[in-house]
Amino acid sequence: MCTRPDHRSVDPAAAAMLKIADRDGFETAWSRLEAQQPQCGYGQLGTCCRNCSMGPCRIDPLEQGPRRGVCGANADTMVARNLARMAAAGASAHSDHGRKVALLLKEVAAGRNTDYPLINPDKLLVVAGRLGIATAGREILDIAGEVADVAIACFGAQGEEVIPFATAYMPKQRVELLKGLEGTLTELTGARIGLLPRGIDREVVDIMHRTHFGCDADPLSLVAQTLRCSFGDGWGGSLIATECQDILFGSPQVRTIKANLGVLDQTMVNVLVHGHEPVLSEKVVEWARAPEMAEAARAVGARGINVAGLCCTGNEILMRQGVNVAGNLLHSELAIMTGAVEAMVVDVQCIFPSLADLSSCFHTRFITTSEQTNIPGALHIQFEEHQADAIARRIIQTAIDAFPNRNTAKVYIPQETEEAMVGFTVEQILAALGGTPDPLVEVIANGTIKGVVGIVGCNNAKVQQDFFHLALTRELIQRDILVLGTGCWAIAAAKAGLMNLDALELAGPGLKAVCGQLGIPPVLHMGSCVDCSRMLVLTGALADHLGVDTAALPVVGSAPEWTTEKAVAIGTYFIGSGLPVHLWPVPPVLGSPAVTKILTESARDLLGGYFFVEEDPLATADRMEAIIMEKRAGLGL
Ligand code: SF4
Ligand code: SF4
Repeated sequence: MCTRPDHRSVDPAAAAMLKIADRDGFETAWSRLEAQQPQCGYGQLGTCCRNCSMGPCRIDPLEQGPRRGVCGANADTMVARNLARMAAAGASAHSDHGRKVALLLKEVAAGRNTDYPLINPDKLLVVAGRLGIATAGREILDIAGEVADVAIACFGAQGEEVIPFATAYMPKQRVELLKGLEGTLTELTGARIGLLPRGIDREVVDIMHRTHFGCDADPLSLVAQTLRCSFGDGWGGSLIATECQDILFGSPQVRTIKANLGVLDQTMVNVLVHGHEPVLSEKVVEWARAPEMAEAARAVGARGINVAGLCCTGNEILMRQGVNVAGNLLHSELAIMTGAVEAMVVDVQCIFPSLADLSSCFHTRFITTSEQTNIPGALHIQFEEHQADAIARRIIQTAIDAFPNRNTAKVYIPQETEEAMVGFTVEQILAALGGTPDPLVEVIANGTIKGVVGIVGCNNAKVQQDFFHLALTRELIQRDILVLGTGCWAIAAAKAGLMNLDALELAGPGLKAVCGQLGIPPVLHMGSCVDCSRMLVLTGALADHLGVDTAALPVVGSAPEWTTEKAVAIGTYFIGSGLPVHLWPVPPVLGSPAVTKILTESARDLLGGYFFVEEDPLATADRMEAIIMEKRAGLGL
């Protein structure tokens, strides 16, 4: 199969599969994007509203039409309300994920769920210590119950106090800055404006309330609440997800895995796990490794069972279980088109509804498992944590049963794979550094490494798949800037070989020397989307170590192929935590000069973090380097 580059993806495996899609007439995200052209300009600018039945209302940015909706809402109000609702949806997705893990921790601690052991008491003690929970002389499960209680209480808190996880993890200088800013904004506007999160659910509900017909019309307070809600995600829901998962399933270790569609195995029963939550996929991996299931697979003519991941479920299990990853978001349809996937098992988030139809063209069982992700045409096997073993077993058996139906004439697996070192949590990075941030601080201080860029986020069919991720990453490491990140970016970097030691050859001399000495690649995999919280914790640790605010650090963020509402929440809590954040594509805010100014200029003055938009990877790297050099100068480096 010819793997010449394709304008839709820079990944040769994707290019090969897209030729099959074109030849056989399979729809893809790319073909549907084309069918959607031209997309609505009002939507792109954020100046449409359908928050009540007098609408939908639209504001023409060229001032050719009405300047206000029926209720009188102008473009600033519409854009700010729409942005707030995007962040609320994103924060909800991450935080609901965190809630489920916290609830599971409680069940395990109380002995009501025996399907999951508590793997990592060491991490439990660290988290308990952070939260100020007494540990001396107590049983592990007793401590776990209390940690779970504190986590669960963060969701439904009704008081005005800041949630305990944010208080325990956010750097002190940032907390003080935000408190001061709350006072300044309240004084400035005469209205009470809060930024630090009081309750994870509450901040989401607050947005849904204030964006309801006839409530908040002020872009400033709407953006402030967008920040507050997003903080509830980054320093709340996502952080709780990460910490409780580490406690329950084990902290990730640095290990080597393979990435890309070539991890599918023609001789095996292939099971793809896709979505975000590891609660189910941990069990799928466990049961796929059970001798009795391997025996059942052999009985139908397969050599065994091969589990591989997609998207952030893939990131979770590669970090903890060393499971190979088949691809990122835009690989999900292409993987089914290989004709070699017996089951695609999905949990929540980033699941194309198209996967059900596409699976029906093959023998693939498309299995939904969450009551929050029902997709017509799928086989739904409802996942229940207290029956995790039995359900995971049933899922594996369903995949095995599908194997004899595979049409070998339809099978094509691109052979592309790359090795990737993954699992660089804060703990693992510190371990690589000898247990303290000192060596990293030292090489940044002496200029061997200029700074750090954290890249997150998705694939987006509007951007050639992985192009921006890879071009930007290569450019940055070549300039002696360490790159780390999460999500589909991390999978893009893994597929392209940027996460193995060979990539050191692409790094500038300083970065190459430092990473070479430590035996790590110049591009670090920190995990899934919720693990952006690990990036916050690392940034906080560096700031505390240096005794400065996070905004002073030579650290920049980016979401260069962002797609989801979760990315809006992530970007927002990053800027609120003091980091400049690059975005591409342009978020739907340009219809409001006021909102655009708040996000790109006022935020810089008030928070230190701000958004900037750039379409070209090289220009983005230039801008990031300039920011890093400016921050270095600010620190006297
Ligand atoms: S809330 Fe106002 S702008 Fe929005 S749809 Fe209703 S009338 Fe139109
Ligand atoms: S990075 Fe974006 S597309 Fe990928 S799994 Fe996370 S939210 Fe979904």
